[in-house]
Amino acid sequence: MSGKGEGPAIGIDLGTTYSCVGVWQHDRVEIIANDQGNRTTPSYVAFTDSERLIGDAAKNQVAMNPVNTVFDAKRLIGRRFSDSSVQSDMKLWPFKIQAGPADKPMIYVEYKGEEKEFAAEEISSMVLIKMREIAEAYLGVTIKNAVVTVPAYFNDSQRQATKDAGVIAGLNVMRIINEPTAAAIAYGLDKKATSVGEKNVLIFDLGGGTFDVSLLTIEEGIFEVKATAGDTHLGGEDFDNRMVNHFVQEFKRKSKKDITGNPRALRRLRTSCERAKRTLSSTAQTTIEIDSLYEGIDFYSTITRARFEELNMDLFRKCMEPVEKCLRDAKMDKSTVHDVVLVGGSTRIPKVQQLLQDFFNGKELCKSINPDEAVAYGAAVQGAILSGEGNEKMVQEAEKYKSEDEEHKKKVEAKNALENYAYNMRNTIQDEKIGEKLPAADKKKIEDSIEQAIQWLEGNQLAEADEFEDKMKELESICNPIIAKMYQGAGGEAGGPGASGMDDDAPPASGGAGPKIEEVD
Ligand code: ADP
Ligand code: MG
Repeated sequence: MSGKGEGPAIGIDLGTTYSCVGVWQHDRVEIIANDQGNRTTPSYVAFTDSERLIGDAAKNQVAMNPVNTVFDAKRLIGRRFSDSSVQSDMKLWPFKIQAGPADKPMIYVEYKGEEKEFAAEEISSMVLIKMREIAEAYLGVTIKNAVVTVPAYFNDSQRQATKDAGVIAGLNVMRIINEPTAAAIAYGLDKKATSVGEKNVLIFDLGGGTFDVSLLTIEEGIFEVKATAGDTHLGGEDFDNRMVNHFVQEFKRKSKKDITGNPRALRRLRTSCERAKRTLSSTAQTTIEIDSLYEGIDFYSTITRARFEELNMDLFRKCMEPVEKCLRDAKMDKSTVHDVVLVGGSTRIPKVQQLLQDFFNGKELCKSINPDEAVAYGAAVQGAILSGEGNEKMVQEAEKYKSEDEEHKKKVEAKNALENYAYNMRNTIQDEKIGEKLPAADKKKIEDSIEQAIQWLEGNQLAEADEFEDKMKELESICNPIIAKMYQGAGGEAGGPGASGMDDDAPPASGGAGPKIEEVD
């Protein structure tokens, strides 16, 4: 951080159904919870007679205010009204869309009693504002800089429109990065890649309404998208719908009433089903409890994980087809994939994980980071790098630690060398066979210098490497000549070292106290 009041860069995963924000703080990524305590926030904006609502508050009132609650803006952003996908998506949206100038799709809502029109990037900017506010509330500073993610298949127009959304939100979008790339960064796969050469990574992103499979290669920190596949209309909402239909049938059986004509009842059931689905990712059974669901009738029921899986098995299996297609398009065999990364809230479903793991012959999947947070996580890492808070700083710090480590290692080695030399030399002259060959004065001289060195060591445990080295040289300059002279004398009498039965324990003349000394140089 360069100044008071200027916050760090944040990473924002601007999702089709949910968005997520993270920040690099205290040497790690923090995924920031919103005012409701949720770590992902619905990408919903609602307009009422009196206010504009964003996130959970907008999604929670959708049943009461369907035509003025806008979602799925990501399906519109950077596209033309006449785009075939816009034409088909439009049929599913309760809010009004019309072609504006330059074939731009415009969204019409009633806000404070007046009709208003918004471009998709304006709706997305409101979601970005919300994500920014979530971060500001948590960090207590104003946020300006952000890294925002987009799907790998987004074209220039969609990327530019996403950037524009950031500008409208008052953000400086430092970079737009691909969602699969962000997920790979979150797992540090770019770093791991450098040590083993090129790496193939498959990103399996099953979210709320979309399914994206991407195959990336990473080499020396460079990401390349080799292929993408998926289904633009497959995700968590489909699994919710299967459960909704299941309970609609059950309600019909139990109370002889059909709730399908009542949007509010359906919405309340759908909200409960989404919650139940999330619970079933970690428990085997859960309950649905809705008071006065329809015509005053309460609805209480239970559902097991096994039943939920059965209701969705065909959809789960369908998720494996784009994986095969992506590998085919990238001309890669599944055995050459180094890492498989789980992204998107729906990959929390155990059955989905199991099918994918089976497809990759039991390979461990990257799932230690919450899958619906992995993209924002990677974007936050990237934000810190770009703003020079973490990787410049992180790189600098890593370099500093590395050199500090090396300094420390050198110091320990020098100290050990001196200790070894001193104790070995003391053992040497205490050895009877050697001791008796040394003139008493020389022996005393060595003993004194060793004693002095050991005492110095005791008082200077924290000395620098070169101080230990100097002390070592000083000790060697006293001891080595005496020992060398002794061996020369011994050699003269008995035919050289090794001839007098000393070869087992006597140090070589040049080394003085044994091979340890060689390590110093
Ligand atoms: P997006 O698709 O917008 O990027 P996410 O990746 O956050 O959004 O995915 C949202 C979907 O994940 C929703 O359908 C949500 O219900 C689902 N989801 C979140 N948590 C779980 C869970 N624990 N088990 C199953 N599905 C979950
Ligand atoms: Mg997503």
